[in-house]
Amino acid sequence: MIPDLPDHIDQIKGFLAEDEALALYQHAAHASALGPVLEIGSYCGKSTIYLGLACRGNNSTVFALDHHRGSEEHQQGEFFHDPDLYDAGEGVMDTFKEFRRNIRAAGLDDVVVPLVSDSETTARQWQTPLAMVFIDGGHSLDAALSDYRCWASHVMRGGILAIHDLFADAHQGGQAPYAIYRMAVASGLFADLGQVNSLGILRRL
Ligand code: MG
Repeated sequence: MIPDLPDHIDQIKGFLAEDEALALYQHAAHASALGPVLEIGSYCGKSTIYLGLACRGNNSTVFALDHHRGSEEHQQGEFFHDPDLYDAGEGVMDTFKEFRRNIRAAGLDDVVVPLVSDSETTARQWQTPLAMVFIDGGHSLDAALSDYRCWASHVMRGGILAIHDLFADAHQGGQAPYAIYRMAVASGLFADLGQVNSLGILRRL
Protein backbone atom coordinates (compact mmCIF):
# COMPACT_ATOMS: atom_id res chain seq x y z
CA MET A 1 0.00 0.00 0.00
CA ILE A 2 2.93 2.36 0.74
CA PRO A 3 5.41 2.40 -2.16
CA ASP A 4 9.00 1.39 -1.24
CA LEU A 5 8.11 0.40 2.32
CA PRO A 6 10.91 -2.03 3.37
CA ASP A 7 9.80 -5.68 3.51
CA HIS A 8 11.33 -5.98 6.97
CA ILE A 9 9.57 -2.93 8.44
CA ASP A 10 7.92 -5.10 11.11
CA GLN A 11 11.34 -6.31 12.28
CA ILE A 12 12.55 -2.78 12.96
CA LYS A 13 12.59 -2.07 16.68
CA GLY A 14 9.96 0.42 17.75
CA PHE A 15 6.60 1.09 19.27
CA LEU A 16 4.23 2.04 16.47
CA ALA A 17 1.01 0.26 15.51
CA GLU A 18 0.22 -0.32 11.84
CA ASP A 19 -2.81 1.98 11.80
CA GLU A 20 -0.75 4.73 13.45
CA ALA A 21 2.04 4.29 10.92
CA LEU A 22 -0.41 4.59 8.04
CA ALA A 23 -1.98 7.74 9.54
CA LEU A 24 1.46 9.30 9.99
CA TYR A 25 2.34 8.51 6.39
CA GLN A 26 -0.90 9.95 5.02
CA HIS A 27 -0.70 13.19 7.01
CA ALA A 28 2.99 13.60 6.16
CA ALA A 29 2.35 12.94 2.47
CA HIS A 30 -0.12 15.82 2.48
CA ALA A 31 1.67 18.20 4.87
CA SER A 32 5.17 17.83 3.40
CA ALA A 33 4.00 19.59 0.23
CA LEU A 34 4.05 22.73 2.42
CA GLY A 35 7.46 22.27 4.08
CA PRO A 36 9.63 19.99 6.19
CA VAL A 37 8.55 17.54 8.89
CA LEU A 38 10.16 17.26 12.31
CA GLU A 39 10.00 14.13 14.44
CA ILE A 40 10.92 14.18 18.12
CA GLY A 41 11.99 10.76 19.39
CA SER A 42 13.18 8.69 16.43
CA TYR A 43 14.60 5.72 18.38
CA CYS A 44 15.58 3.15 15.70
CA GLY A 45 13.83 4.96 12.85
CA LYS A 46 10.64 2.98 12.30
CA SER A 47 8.31 5.98 12.25
CA THR A 48 11.04 8.02 10.54
CA ILE A 49 10.85 5.64 7.58
CA TYR A 50 7.11 6.21 7.16
CA LEU A 51 7.60 9.98 7.40
CA GLY A 52 10.60 9.82 5.07
CA LEU A 53 8.77 7.90 2.35
CA ALA A 54 5.93 10.45 2.56
CA CYS A 55 8.34 13.39 2.31
CA ARG A 56 10.31 11.94 -0.58
CA GLY A 57 7.25 12.22 -2.81
CA ASN A 58 7.29 15.99 -2.26
CA ASN A 59 11.08 16.46 -2.31
CA SER A 60 10.74 17.44 1.32
CA THR A 61 12.84 16.66 4.41
CA VAL A 62 12.37 14.88 7.73
CA PHE A 63 14.36 16.30 10.62
CA ALA A 64 14.74 13.35 12.98
CA LEU A 65 15.50 14.68 16.46
CA ASP A 66 16.75 12.28 19.12
CA HIS A 67 19.67 12.33 21.56
CA HIS A 68 19.73 8.57 20.97
CA ARG A 69 20.42 7.87 24.65
CA GLY A 70 16.97 6.37 25.18
CA SER A 71 14.04 7.69 27.21
CA GLU A 72 13.51 6.95 30.90
CA GLU A 73 11.80 3.63 30.15
CA HIS A 74 14.69 2.43 27.93
CA GLN A 75 17.39 2.69 30.57
CA GLN A 76 19.00 -0.35 32.22
CA GLY A 77 16.61 -2.03 34.63
CA GLU A 78 13.54 -0.37 33.09
CA PHE A 79 10.69 -2.18 31.39
CA PHE A 80 11.52 -1.26 27.78
CA HIS A 81 15.30 -1.68 28.07
CA ASP A 82 16.85 -3.45 25.06
CA PRO A 83 20.35 -4.79 25.83
CA ASP A 84 21.16 -4.87 22.09
CA LEU A 85 21.02 -1.05 22.10
CA TYR A 86 23.22 -0.60 25.13
CA ASP A 87 26.82 0.55 24.63
CA ALA A 88 28.58 -1.22 27.48
CA GLY A 89 31.90 0.49 26.74
CA GLU A 90 30.41 3.94 27.19
CA GLY A 91 27.83 2.83 29.74
CA VAL A 92 24.96 4.49 27.84
CA MET A 93 22.15 3.62 25.48
CA ASP A 94 23.02 4.28 21.84
CA THR A 95 20.22 3.91 19.29
CA PHE A 96 21.94 6.06 16.66
CA LYS A 97 23.89 3.25 15.02
CA GLU A 98 20.74 1.18 14.57
CA PHE A 99 18.85 4.28 13.40
CA ARG A 100 21.45 5.05 10.71
CA ARG A 101 21.47 1.46 9.53
CA ASN A 102 17.70 1.42 9.14
CA ILE A 103 17.48 4.78 7.35
CA ARG A 104 20.26 3.79 4.96
CA ALA A 105 18.69 0.40 4.24
CA ALA A 106 15.41 2.16 3.47
CA GLY A 107 17.21 4.39 0.96
CA LEU A 108 16.30 7.56 2.85
CA ASP A 109 19.72 9.11 3.56
CA ASP A 110 18.88 12.03 1.26
CA VAL A 111 15.48 12.68 2.88
CA VAL A 112 16.17 12.24 6.60
CA VAL A 113 18.40 14.71 8.46
CA PRO A 114 19.29 13.36 11.92
CA LEU A 115 19.52 15.90 14.72
CA VAL A 116 21.42 14.11 17.48
CA SER A 117 20.62 16.34 20.42
CA ASP A 118 17.84 17.16 22.86
CA SER A 119 14.75 19.27 22.20
CA GLU A 120 15.82 22.40 24.06
CA THR A 121 19.31 22.59 22.58
CA THR A 122 18.00 22.06 19.05
CA ALA A 123 15.11 24.49 19.44
CA ARG A 124 17.28 27.33 20.76
CA GLN A 125 18.18 28.70 17.31
CA TRP A 126 15.43 27.06 15.27
CA GLN A 127 13.71 29.32 12.74
CA THR A 128 12.40 27.02 10.02
CA PRO A 129 8.60 26.76 9.86
CA LEU A 130 7.46 23.15 10.01
CA ALA A 131 4.63 21.56 8.04
CA MET A 132 4.32 18.73 10.54
CA VAL A 133 5.66 18.03 14.02
CA PHE A 134 5.41 14.53 15.45
CA ILE A 135 6.01 14.39 19.21
CA ASP A 136 7.08 10.92 20.34
CA GLY A 137 9.85 11.72 22.81
CA GLY A 138 10.24 11.22 26.55
CA HIS A 139 7.12 10.33 28.51
CA SER A 140 7.91 12.20 31.72
CA LEU A 141 5.84 15.35 32.21
CA ASP A 142 9.02 17.47 32.04
CA ALA A 143 10.09 15.92 28.72
CA ALA A 144 6.64 16.10 27.11
CA LEU A 145 6.09 19.71 28.23
CA SER A 146 9.50 20.68 26.94
CA ASP A 147 8.84 19.08 23.54
CA TYR A 148 5.48 20.85 23.30
CA ARG A 149 6.85 24.25 24.35
CA CYS A 150 9.88 23.96 22.07
CA TRP A 151 8.08 22.88 18.91
CA ALA A 152 4.32 23.52 18.83
CA SER A 153 4.90 27.18 17.96
CA HIS A 154 6.91 26.19 14.86
CA VAL A 155 3.99 24.39 13.21
CA MET A 156 2.89 26.54 10.26
CA ARG A 157 -0.73 27.47 9.64
CA GLY A 158 -2.45 24.50 8.06
CA GLY A 159 0.32 22.23 9.36
CA ILE A 160 -0.06 19.13 11.50
CA LEU A 161 0.84 18.45 15.12
CA ALA A 162 0.80 14.73 15.91
CA ILE A 163 1.33 13.33 19.41
CA HIS A 164 1.98 9.66 20.14
CA ASP A 165 0.97 7.53 23.13
CA LEU A 166 -2.30 9.18 24.13
CA PHE A 167 -4.13 7.23 26.80
CA ALA A 168 -7.19 8.76 28.42
CA ASP A 169 -7.08 5.97 31.01
CA ALA A 170 -3.99 6.08 33.24
CA HIS A 171 -4.09 2.29 33.53
CA GLN A 172 -3.22 2.02 29.84
CA GLY A 173 -0.20 4.32 29.90
CA GLY A 174 1.50 7.46 31.18
CA GLN A 175 -0.45 10.71 31.10
CA ALA A 176 2.20 13.20 29.96
CA PRO A 177 1.49 12.93 26.19
CA TYR A 178 -2.22 13.27 26.90
CA ALA A 179 -1.54 16.35 29.02
CA ILE A 180 0.21 18.18 26.16
CA TYR A 181 -2.48 17.04 23.73
CA ARG A 182 -5.10 18.69 25.96
CA MET A 183 -2.91 21.81 26.18
CA ALA A 184 -2.79 21.99 22.39
CA VAL A 185 -6.57 21.67 22.16
CA ALA A 186 -7.10 24.22 24.96
CA SER A 187 -4.74 26.72 23.29
CA GLY A 188 -7.33 27.39 20.61
CA LEU A 189 -4.52 27.30 18.03
CA PHE A 190 -5.30 23.81 16.74
CA ALA A 191 -8.30 21.95 15.38
CA ASP A 192 -8.58 18.46 16.86
CA LEU A 193 -8.70 15.94 14.00
CA GLY A 194 -9.16 13.05 16.41
CA GLN A 195 -7.17 9.96 17.29
CA VAL A 196 -5.98 6.88 15.41
CA ASN A 197 -5.28 4.30 18.10
CA SER A 198 -2.96 6.21 20.49
CA LEU A 199 -1.92 8.81 17.89
CA GLY A 200 -3.55 12.25 18.26
CA ILE A 201 -3.72 14.53 15.22
CA LEU A 202 -4.26 18.30 15.29
CA ARG A 203 -4.18 20.92 12.57
CA ARG A 204 -2.79 24.41 13.16
CA LEU A 205 -5.47 26.97 12.43
MG1 MG B 1 5.71 6.44 21.14
